[in-house]
Parts: sequence; structure tokens; C-alpha cells
Amino acid sequence: MHLWRFGLLCVIALLSAVSPALAESLPLSKSLESKSTPLNQYALRSWNTRDGLPHNSVNRITQSNQGYLWLATWEGPVRYNGRTFKIFDDTNVTKMREAGALSVAYNPSDDELVFSGPRGSIVSHINEQWNPTIVGDNFVFDTVRDASGATWAATANGVYRIAEQQRPIHYTAAHGLPTNFSFRIFITAAPNQRTRLYVGTRRGLAYYNNQTDSFVPVESVSPAQVRAMTLLDNGTFIVANDDGLFYQLPNSDEFLPWPVAMKDRVTALTEASDGCLIIGTFTRGLGRLCHDSEDWLSVENGLPNSHVLDIYRDQEDTLWIGTHGGLVQLREALFRSFTPHHGVKGAYARSVNTDRDGRIWVGTNDGISHQVNESEQGTVFKALRGDPLLEALSVLSIAHGESGVIYVGTYTDGLLKLTDGKVTAQLSRKTGFSSNEIRVVLPIESTNLLLVGTARGLYLIRVRSDAFEIVRHYSTADGMAADFVSSITMDSAGALWVSSTLSLTYLRPVGEFQWQPKPIDLASFTGASNIFSGTFHNNRIWFATDHGMLTRSLETDDWHWLSRRNGLPFDKTFTINFDKNDNLWLGGARGIVRITKDDLKTWMMDNRKTINYQLFTEVDGMVSRQLTTGGPASVIDQQGSLWFASALGVVTINPQLVDDYRKVSPAPVIESVTIDTGEIHATKLIPADNTRTEFRYVTLGYHMPESLQYQVRLEGYDSHWIDRGNQLETAYTALSPGKYTFMVRSRYPGGEWSTVTSIVLEKQAFFYQRPWFWFVFSITLILLLSLSIHIRIRSLQGTKRRLQRLVQKKTQELEAMAMQDTLTGLANRRAFDQQLEDELRNSRRYETPLTVALIDIDYFKKINDTYLHTGGDVVLQHVSRLLEQQIREVDSVARWGGEEFAIIFPQTPLADALVVLERIRRATENMHIEKFEQAKITVSIGATELSDEESSAQLLKNADRALYTAKEQGRNRIVTG
Ligand code: GH3
Ligand code: MG
Ligand code: MG
Repeated sequence: MHLWRFGLLCVIALLSAVSPALAESLPLSKSLESKSTPLNQYALRSWNTRDGLPHNSVNRITQSNQGYLWLATWEGPVRYNGRTFKIFDDTNVTKMREAGALSVAYNPSDDELVFSGPRGSIVSHINEQWNPTIVGDNFVFDTVRDASGATWAATANGVYRIAEQQRPIHYTAAHGLPTNFSFRIFITAAPNQRTRLYVGTRRGLAYYNNQTDSFVPVESVSPAQVRAMTLLDNGTFIVANDDGLFYQLPNSDEFLPWPVAMKDRVTALTEASDGCLIIGTFTRGLGRLCHDSEDWLSVENGLPNSHVLDIYRDQEDTLWIGTHGGLVQLREALFRSFTPHHGVKGAYARSVNTDRDGRIWVGTNDGISHQVNESEQGTVFKALRGDPLLEALSVLSIAHGESGVIYVGTYTDGLLKLTDGKVTAQLSRKTGFSSNEIRVVLPIESTNLLLVGTARGLYLIRVRSDAFEIVRHYSTADGMAADFVSSITMDSAGALWVSSTLSLTYLRPVGEFQWQPKPIDLASFTGASNIFSGTFHNNRIWFATDHGMLTRSLETDDWHWLSRRNGLPFDKTFTINFDKNDNLWLGGARGIVRITKDDLKTWMMDNRKTINYQLFTEVDGMVSRQLTTGGPASVIDQQGSLWFASALGVVTINPQLVDDYRKVSPAPVIESVTIDTGEIHATKLIPADNTRTEFRYVTLGYHMPESLQYQVRLEGYDSHWIDRGNQLETAYTALSPGKYTFMVRSRYPGGEWSTVTSIVLEKQAFFYQRPWFWFVFSITLILLLSLSIHIRIRSLQGTKRRLQRLVQKKTQELEAMAMQDTLTGLANRRAFDQQLEDELRNSRRYETPLTVALIDIDYFKKINDTYLHTGGDVVLQHVSRLLEQQIREVDSVARWGGEEFAIIFPQTPLADALVVLERIRRATENMHIEKFEQAKITVSIGATELSDEESSAQLLKNADRALYTAKEQGRNRIVTG
């Protein structure tokens, strides 16, 4: 040890302890106006094994580009997404020799995590793959990757350099290391800083010289155990060893001792976003060194363990602290909270009020505390302990009188007057009060009078130096709506508005400090019945109620009622305040709502409109969103900050900061897509027979991750965003085939929606669900249909033709049948008549002769008798054939009826016809018919020639008369007429 150096250190430490001038020259990055929130007023949260951490010692912390926090714990690597800790403790997976991880380093360029652990284990995690390297058999405390891609490891037995495709190179004291035990390793790569690899050993610092491939000890840092190193934004390099801090300015080789002595061994170093240096220590917890201030966060302030192992600043500027008692988050938020860790006596605050000096007083279920101006060691509040009665005092209300006098309304001890922290007067049931439960105390300005609301009526009390004197008692007997008093609000006219749990009484002033009570029928115009507090503002009286806000103008009798129906996020409001800019603040059991002056005005003009508001909860730094009721449970201090009593302490906000405050949630990450067969990774195709598709997502934002609200939308399925609350998974069943885009976004309550994260997937189709199938199928169907129609038409056309032919034939047959005699085949009477008319006309036109003959078979009855009727028919047929044979070509014969026939002889005079007729008579006479040999068949004939003017009827009549004559004359002969 260089004695002169040690001496110098001591001198500097001494100097710095006494000289503020030196303290101001801290080598820090920048000096923001010392508006930084003290560490103990950051929003603090911690997690330990009860919350899912596998081990309470969090050795190292880092964050991936995506936003996951990665922790090195004694039970292995752990990934935190704000909701769950995913533990990688299976050495078969991580390929570490033991589960425990001592460090984690992150290389953002290729998203590589490097964990190190006991027994020489180093494992690289990249693309879900774990690749181990084993170096020696000792603890590997730290790793770093250099620009060439080689990983350097600090171990309990020297330093290793691991390059791809090479055996690890082992450096020990023989290579210039001050000692083999190497705890930290760091590369100073910054724009204005030379790149150097430093090793922090148990005996001081050394750097690597690549010319000589060996280490060079740094003489200007004392040879004590190095525990932390960090590089500031301004290029200053800081090294912590057990002697204190040393710093090296950019482009300098020399390390200088820190101007201020460290009060404890420093274990971790991180620069905060405001340029202050955050240090972790062995026994004092967390410290913060700024240019002009130093503050601490210890176990007393809520740190779960005083031994800090690591400090990490994440992408949202949130500080994460690894301790032996778990993981801690420190966040600068809009609200600051004060709890028993800040000196408040009791946590369940019911009353918060400001005294005449501007100090805040807090009444809890366990006593009274007041703000202290000098904030040392995190103490911001101090309990009032001057009197035994103040221990375990349950406070309901606090008020301030002249010259430091405090009035305290209690739950069970009545009304107290405190002078210089001592109880100087008490009014309780013992001393003539009707109740010990004092909900509200309201001093009347410039008097020694108090209005006191109790569980049994309203009192006007005069304060004496050591006693209270009851002046007047108002109860239901006097016209109050109820005896129980929960709030008293005085308006500018001196009237009182006194509420109970279920009613409101208006007390009209009727004299000096005298009022006339008159109940107000709330039910007639509002759903609100329980009024918790009120305020007078802008000539209106305003109430916080169990159903939102209620207000009435003092000039007109118009009541306005703002509740959940108008868009308030909740109904139950306990406190009501207006800030200096006339914005409205409503506090309830589910957070604090702020309504801007303009939004309130707009709504007052048209209260059918939905109200615009901002909601504040734990996300915004409130230790609890659950506010309480008391007298009063909210107050505005002299600086204009609002204070609220909550179930876990008091919370405060500077309303001026709200407009610059934006709660933006990062975009969620999609953690997995799971189908029936398991998780799908590279391929985004979902098989056709899949039934369920589940998406898991999470937003890696750590401002109260449980409060993050999610919305999802499956494009191709949903037409709008679906609220998922804080659910981290959404499943879809029976998706039809097609392309889908799963989209998810998130927001903090009351914040804007994040940008959307999406993933495109395709659900495959069964062959019969595919378009080509339907195309081919439809075309085939159309072709088949048209073919069958074509065939059908063809067959119908064939049938039609067949039928037409048939009809034609049948018609012809029928026609033939109509003109022909069926038995003989000769023309029938009809045909004969037609023919005769035609020939008659021709004969007249051409003046040609025409002869007609009627022929009758003789004694035909006898033939029928002999040969039966059928035989007669045969004879008729034979005679017919004979007639046909005997007439000339031009003549026509017909069956005239029965056994009578007729012949027309066109252009034939009677004489010529007679020749033919005679031939017929003789042929008949000589006719031989088989089987009719015995029958003698002859015919009688009457013939006549057409004469002028004669009709067909007359012609035939003449022929018939001639036939008759032939019969008379003996038959078988021809007679002319
Ligand atoms: P006449 O010499 O005076 O003519 O004597 P006839 O027996 O022929 O007398 P008439 O003319 O009175 O009788 C005709 C008979 O012819 C009567 C009737 O039964 C018969 N007859 C009429 N049409 C048919 C027929 O189609 N078939 C058969 N077998 N007999 C018929
Ligand atoms: Mg006859
Ligand atoms: Mg006859």
C-alpha cells in the first residue's frame, strides 16, 4: 500500500466532509436544477419469493431490447415481464453446471444474454438457444464482450478470454493481474473515452494491454476489493472499491479519489437520468450523490434489505435494485406518497390538513404526525408524541386554531385541544358531550368558536384556554334531517350545509352564530344520499357523495349532479377540491379524478354530455388508490399541492405538473401463439383442422404492470377492438380459413393507447374449402347441367317429331276412315255425296253429261237368313270387288248404304253408262263365291242422266225411282229414269 496515497485519500475525505465547495465539484454528468425527487419519495415496489421470485438474492439485472427484465439469481436466470417471473432453473435447458446465476450481461446488437455462475459456467442465450462454455472450476462473477466478439470472464481464479473456435485463454497473476480473484470486468467504450478492458480484482484495478497480451495494474486506484464500475454519460469512468470511489476523466489515464468519502462499501453504481449517481451499499441501502445533495433510501424507508447487489436503469428510467431481500423498483411518479417509512405514525390516514405555517398534518388510525421541514434520512413526517393520549389515538379529524393550537376529533376519545403537542382540553362523554365520535371540526374564522360534527348532532363550541364550552346543540329535535354529522361546509352567506350518511341539512343563519335547520329532500333530484365532504367555490356549494359530485348555485336553485351516468369512472367520491387553476379534483375509493376547468364548464352547460376526466391510481405513484373519508381527507397546501388521505398513507400531487405528464404504455409483445398441436414459431400457418388458437401477449412497461389495460382485435374476425382488461391471453375457436391479423394494444388507466403490435397468420383450408375447388366444382356442375338440358331438349325434339308423324298418320287414317266404308273398303256415302257435288259442278261448268246409277242386291235378306249375317258381309265384299273391277277408270263407286251401291259416270251419257252397267249385271249374275254356290246373287240397277237444273238430290231420287221400278219389274235388270 502506498502510504502517501492513503494519506492523500484521508485528507481529501476530510476536506470534502467539511467543504461544500469541494462537494459541488463532483465529476457528475450534468446538474439539473436540484428539483430531483428525493429517493425516498420515489414510488417504491418490491418483489420477493412470495411474488414468484425463485430466490430473494437478485445478483444482477439487465433488460433486453424487447423490454424483458433478466435477473441473475441463485436459483437460475429469471425473465420478468411485469406480471410473472419465468425461471430457467433446469440445467438440462440452460446447460449450466449449476442452476445459480451470478451475473447477466446483455449484448444488444445480437440480442445475446450471457449468464455466468459457479463452477466455471458461462452460457450464452440467443434465439431461445443456450450455449455453454466452461472455464475452469470456480465462480464466474462477471462477463463482458469486446468489439472483436470475444467474451471476457472475471472468475475467482483469474480472467478468461473466450473467442469462437478457440480454446479459452486463461490470464492470472502471472499475466499481470494484481491477484487471481477477479470480481468485475468492464470495457470503457464511449465516444470520448478510450476503449479499455478493466478488471476489478480483490486487490485493485488492472487493464488489459493487447500489445503485450497481459494486464497492467492501475496504480492510482488503491489495492482494495473492486465491487462496481460504471461509465457516466460525460465519459467519466467510476470505480468503486472498498476504499471508496475513484474516477477517471475522459482522455486521462489517471484515476482520482472521489471528493467525498463513502460512508459504506459501495457494491453497485448507476447514473440516474438526472445525472446523479446512484450507489448501492453493503449496509446502508441505496444512496444518491448529486452535485448539491445526497440522500439515502434504507430499510426504514421500505427497502426490503440494506445490502444492495445491483442497480439497473431501464428503458423507462425506472430504477431496479437487486438486494438480498428481493427485487425493488424505484420510479419517479406524478404523485408522492408518505407512509410510516417516511415517519407518518400509522398508515390508515383519515385526515390531512395544513396549519398556519403551511405544514401538513396527518391523522391516522394510530396517531397524529406533522411534516418536518428538514428532510434528513428520509424523515419527512414526525409523530406527535407529547402526551400519552396521543399514542394509539384513532383520529377522524384535524383543525388548526390560533398560535399553533390543534383541534383533533377522535373516534373514541372525543374532541382534543393540543397546545405545543400537549392535550390542554378534552370534551367527551365524560365531560358532557353526547358522543365521543368527532367526524369534523370547523373553527369559525376570527372567533374562538368551533363547529363540531359528532355522531349525535352538531355542536357550537366555545374554546377556553383549558376547556371546551358547549354553546348550542343542533339535533333532529331542532329540525336536523339526522343526528349523525359527517361533514360541515360553510358558504359565503354564513349558511351551513351539514351532511349525514343519508341526508343533508341546510342551516340558514338567523342571527349571530345561530342557524335554523331545514332538511333538503335529496331524493327528489339525485341518486346521491351519502355526502362525505363539501367545498365552497365560485358561488356554488360542491359535494363529494356516494353517487358522484353534487353542486348547487347559491343564486339560483339549480342542482347539478355528475355521476357514473355522465361518464365518471366510479360513483363513490370522498373528497372534493379545486386547485389554483380551478380544475376539479374528486377523490374516491378507486383513485383520484381530475376534471379540467373547461371540461367542467362544458358539462355544466349541458349536463347530458359525457364528462372528460383523468384518473390517477398507483400507476401514478399513489401508494394506494383507496382514499378515505375524514375531516378533511384532502387539502391544498400553501404551494398549491393537493394532499389526500389514503388507506396506506398520504399522497400528494403538484397539479401544475399534470399537463406535462403523459402515461404512454409501450407497445405489447406477442409472447406466443398456441394452436391445438402446441406453440407455433417460424411458420404462421394454421392447419385446416385446428380448432383453438391462443395468443399470449404482454406489455413490457413497468409502471404498475397489473394496471395495464389491453385491447385485442383479430382482423378478419372482429370488426372492432375488444376490451381484455388485464388479461394476457385471448383465444379463438373454429376460425374459418383465411388470412388474419392479430392486433393488440395497451394503455395505463386514463392514458393513451399504445402503438399496435400485430402478427399475420393464415388458417389453411380443406381442399373443399379452397377457391379453386369451388371454381372447378362450379364449372363442372354447370357443364353437366347444360349437357343434361341439351340431351333432354334433343330427346323432346325427337319425341315431338315422332308424335307429329304419329298425329299426321293417325289424322290421315282418320281422314281415310271418314271417307271409306269399313266393311267393303269402298267410298262411303259421305265421300259419294262430296264426289257427286264435285262432278255435278264439273258437268255444269264444262256442259258435259253425267250419269248416276244405284245398285241393290236382290233378295239379300234371304242370303242373310241362309248364311247368317257374317255370310252376308262376305257377299257384300265380293260384290264390292266386282263393282270396282267392272267400272271404268274415271268412274267411282261407293257403298250407298246396306246392300246398295252407287256409281258416278262423269262426262258419260246414259247410253255409255248402260254398257258398263249391263256388264256389271251380267258379271254379278255369273259370280261364283266359294261356299255360296247355292246362292243366286243378282242386282237390280236404276240409272239416270243428269238433266238441266237438276240437283244431286233430285238426280238420286230419279235413280232410286228407276231402281224401284227395276225391282217391281222382276229384279236382275236395269231401268233408266
Ligand atoms: P229385294 O229384292 O226387294 O231388294 O229384297 P231384299 O231381301 O233385298 O229386301 P230389302 O232390300 O228390304 O232388304 C235388305 C236386307 O239387307 C235387309 C238387311 O237385313 C240386309 N242388310 C242390310 N245391310 C247389311 C249388311 O251390311 N250385311 C248383311 N249381312 N246384311 C245387310
Ligand atoms: Mg234394298
Ligand atoms: Mg235388296
